[in-house]
Amino acid sequence: MTCAACGKPLTVYDVGFYRRLVNRGAQSCKCIPCTAAYYGMTEERAWELIRHYQRTGCTLFPPPEKDK
Ligand SMILES: [Zn+2]
Repeated sequence: MTCAACGKPLTVYDVGFYRRLVNRGAQSCKCIPCTAAYYGMTEERAWELIRHYQRTGCTLFPPPEKDK
């Protein structure tokens, strides 16, 4: 899948973030910078939210990285 706005290849984080904010069943997604810009937030803020979603067990994202 690629970003619907800029055409960049999407990672699981891009897709998860878009689905979390916009629509869980979205078949067409945008990358984190494009989604963040749409919501008027910085990319840093977007990643803070993603870490938060991961820590709270959101199934749209892989589990938080372990220390090993
Ligand atoms: Zn994009």
